Amino acid sequence: MSIHTIAKDQKNYFYQGDTLSIEFRKKQLRKLKQLLADNQDQIIEAIHKDFSKAPFEIYVSELLVVYDEINYMLKNMKKLARPEKVKTPLLHFYSKSRLLKDPLGSVLIISPWNYPLSLALTPLVGALAAGNCVVLKPSEISSHTSALMNKLLSGTFPKEYVSVCEGDAETTQTLLKQGFDHCFFTGSTEVGRKIMQAAGKTLTPVTLELGGKSPCIVTEDADLVKAACRIVWGKFVNAGQTCIAPDFVLVHESVKNRLILLIQEVIKRFYGEGPIDNPDYSGIITEKHFDRLLDLIEEERVIHGGSYERNSLKITPTLIDEPDWASPIMQEEIFGPLLPIKSYESIVDVVHTLQDKPKPLALYLFTESEVYKEFVMESLSFGGGCINDTIIHFANANLPFGGVGESGTGSYHGKYSFDTFTHKKGIIEKTTLFDLPLRYPPYDNNTLKWLKKMV
Ligand code: NAD
Repeated sequence: MSIHTIAKDQKNYFYQGDTLSIEFRKKQLRKLKQLLADNQDQIIEAIHKDFSKAPFEIYVSELLVVYDEINYMLKNMKKLARPEKVKTPLLHFYSKSRLLKDPLGSVLIISPWNYPLSLALTPLVGALAAGNCVVLKPSEISSHTSALMNKLLSGTFPKEYVSVCEGDAETTQTLLKQGFDHCFFTGSTEVGRKIMQAAGKTLTPVTLELGGKSPCIVTEDADLVKAACRIVWGKFVNAGQTCIAPDFVLVHESVKNRLILLIQEVIKRFYGEGPIDNPDYSGIITEKHFDRLLDLIEEERVIHGGSYERNSLKITPTLIDEPDWASPIMQEEIFGPLLPIKSYESIVDVVHTLQDKPKPLALYLFTESEVYKEFVMESLSFGGGCINDTIIHFANANLPFGGVGESGTGSYHGKYSFDTFTHKKGIIEKTTLFDLPLRYPPYDNNTLKWLKKMV
């Protein structure tokens, strides 16, 4: 079926109105949940084939996240979809105002390879909960997971309701020409620019969930043992191929050596002496990314790790000491198991340095000081983050997840997903029992005086 036909069929189907009913939407989400439960083993196998990810990590970061989102929507959808009453100015006497929660229509979801199931299905859940039809374009790089999602979703939902289009950048560009009612993109900042440009031609509204370099600050009074543990976990889960992984660490000079020792200990505790052979430790997605990461450390001072195996595309957890801000590893998003560690003298300098950089998707602060917490949170703009932990803010459906500035536009998860895929249609309903003639010509000066007084 051609892309044009799919887009057209979805529009026609949407206007039949089936998706407006809350019961219909809930039934579809239950179907999706059952589909995932029935095919859990196949899903784990496909993601593992894509990049040797540990089954435990797959369950937690790919399946649980989607189940959580489905459960949230099943519980809250009715309330979220309900029209909201709002106040009406006296000027419009006598009328009532309300917001209607309209689904957008047929939406395009474009997903990346790094969490190939959850980053495709979490927005899909939000879009379906809000009453939309969806065309999903998963990543061609995580090809096993994309093929499986296509097979499972196509076998469960009619194409005019949920459709999967596998393909590369060209397929995405063709999709963008169809003029969907919304485009939800997760991927790199560089491709995000191209998506926005292409969507602009049909004035398709976009949500951009992008990447960037997320800093992790460790102050002199931080609980270093906990910090080391939580930084290592957030950085090396999925071998660092997480959009919100701490990209680099800025640590107060007085505690730098101790933090490094603790990080090294935790790496050994988590992944053993030979992380390459450890099934809990993921590989890099492609040889191209593997080589890109090796290039990044070539000129740097490696103080831990730095080993690799081309066969399995694994690079061991690697620590880099004091890279220059101008070096490639401090310029581009790392997206791999390399952790630069830089020391600082003053938190004020840290804030000034970060204010000069693009606004990151996440920021992590390890500190016991309320003053530092307030200062950093108030001085820096970033998508979201954690104090004294890393990456867990992603897994709270009550928080909006998204970037700001170069790290993205818009947000999702829970209520924020529902709102992203909903148009709030403002309506005033006026009485027909009477009609105050004040606003109609011929205009009269007394009315004008009265109006001026009211203002
Ligand atoms: P990517 O930008 O290369 O690809 C994402 C999607 O865009 C894929 O489906 C791909 O087929 C498509 N695409 C690629 N080039 C295109 C083009 N020229 N025109 C149209 N479509 C195109 O990203 P990736 O490599 O799959 O994922 C890694 C990036 O995604 C990292 O930068 C990471 O930070 C970011 N990311 C962000 C989030 C988030 O939630 N903010 C989550 C995961 C990943």
